[in-house]
Amino acid sequence: MIAVRNLAFSYRSRNGAVPALADVAFEVDSGTICAVMGPSGCGKSTLISILAGLERPLSGTVSIAGLPVDPARQRIALVPQQYGLLPWKTVERNVLLGFTIRRGSSPGMDRNEAIERAGTIMEELGIESLKARYPASLSGGQRQRVALARAYAFDPDVLLFDEPFSALDAITREDMQGIFLRFWRRHPVTALFVTHSVSEAVSLASRIVVLTPGPAHVLRVEENPFFLQSEADRAGILDFEESLKNSMRGAAS
Ligand code: ADP
Ligand code: MG
Repeated sequence: MIAVRNLAFSYRSRNGAVPALADVAFEVDSGTICAVMGPSGCGKSTLISILAGLERPLSGTVSIAGLPVDPARQRIALVPQQYGLLPWKTVERNVLLGFTIRRGSSPGMDRNEAIERAGTIMEELGIESLKARYPASLSGGQRQRVALARAYAFDPDVLLFDEPFSALDAITREDMQGIFLRFWRRHPVTALFVTHSVSEAVSLASRIVVLTPGPAHVLRVEENPFFLQSEADRAGILDFEESLKNSMRGAAS
């Protein structure tokens, strides 16, 4: 479980502190997907950096399985907004970065074993045939699958995404959401993504946390009754999305 308690954060700038998170608290159950939704500038990327252990909160705590977040002890995979692939490495080498490869007496796995496991993950995500290509020659959806493969290669305790589908066109976005969900169902891991898209949150997450405009606090936490349900109840989904949108609008006005 990820537990976020009373999180506050400010950036320091020449003109003084810029508050980004006011008071954020929520939980993500193990093996579930949580969406944190909020308007642009409300502090979503800041929250992701703190969850990944890259920034220290001003106050409050984040724990993973009961221990304070620590990238040295927990395996936290982060897929940044622009995917973070290394342009000078091939697809396969980018995915291999996710593995800790054994050198001398350090823990990790054999290079051959890593190559084999990377192959399996790439195959499941339909990018095996791209393994010798470089990121610059890939489409957005392909890059995202490479980033997902690398994150999974890490065998993460927690998987974090910053606006995973926002850079994709509408059709690719729907395809990628399906690919992600199918892959996640085969390999369920505790996952959290931030988004400004209501429909993305409703399509992909079992719990939805709505943040206020920045500096953020939690406006609403909803269990998503439509998670992994068939699309049959289209009207119900639209009502639910409308209600979440109204929360965001209400908070903004
Ligand atoms: P979001 O991801 O929700 O769009 P961010 O977390 O990126 O929001 O930013 C939250 C707030 O913090 C914004 O007001 C933004 O301008 C500010 N901010 C973000 N990064 C920095 C920084 N490095 N220095 C100063 N202010 C920042
Ligand atoms: Mg952001």
